[in-house]
Amino acid sequence: MPTPSDIQTHHDRHGRYPEAVTVEDFRRNLAAVQARIDAACHRVGRDPATVRLLPVSKTKPEASLRMAHAAGCRMLGENKVQEAYRKWEAMQDLTDLQWSAIGHLQTNKAKLVARFATEFQALDSLRLARALDRRLQMQGRSLDVFVQVNTSGEESKYGLAPEDVPSFIQALPAFSALRVRGLMTLALFSSEAERVRQCFVLLRTLRDRLRQSAPAGIELDALSMGMSGDFEIAIEEGATVVRVGQAIFGARDLPDSHYWPGEPTGDQS
Ligand SMILES: *Cc1c(COP(=O)(O)O)cnc(C)c1O
Repeated sequence: MPTPSDIQTHHDRHGRYPEAVTVEDFRRNLAAVQARIDAACHRVGRDPATVRLLPVSKTKPEASLRMAHAAGCRMLGENKVQEAYRKWEAMQDLTDLQWSAIGHLQTNKAKLVARFATEFQALDSLRLARALDRRLQMQGRSLDVFVQVNTSGEESKYGLAPEDVPSFIQALPAFSALRVRGLMTLALFSSEAERVRQCFVLLRTLRDRLRQSAPAGIELDALSMGMSGDFEIAIEEGATVVRVGQAIFGARDLPDSHYWPGEPTGDQS
């Protein structure tokens, strides 16, 4: 697989994505991101149809989410569950809009996710799996889930250590309301493309290895990795879902440390 050496991450650009304020802005940004997805796929001989773009709307107001919907977005990713739940409640009129919860979840908030989300990307403990499954059973619902893996080794990052994932996966068939789709990770937050790439390689390698021993009913096709600053590298390494916020909605006011405790807040470059 070619690994273009001239590819840098774009984490240092974050402050520069202008706020999308019209449906036309959203259409243009979505088309630009899609063109970058297509180009990354082309570089490594992948079919762009195998990569799903998940727009991430966290911190953005309801009006922005409605514009994103008008521009064609049918699933939105949110990091904080209470914020997501509030938005879901406020936008019940958009009956074709689905929600993906992509951030760390405390067990006591499992009932919220069980109510509104169709996808949960941050499964990282059996306790949480049990709580989600119980709530989902009560509601007669099921949920697509991704197991979050800490591929950067940073203390501050959520997710299972790679060596703990195999036994974790083996335990998941007990939770019949959870439809396991694959693995998710947040790479090292760095401008050094090679170090970021290693996180993605680790997730793909782990997935490939686990696939062979996965219990019946556990699907491990999906790899959710890559965000505004690094999604092209993630695609080159096999991402099937990229979670992109700022390149579509515009820069966020809050530093990333608000979402990922312990994250450096300054200029990364
Ligand atoms: C915010 C967030 C993203 C998207 O980050 P951007 O820099 O806005 O593209 C991706 N994944 C997770 C888990 C997030 O919280």
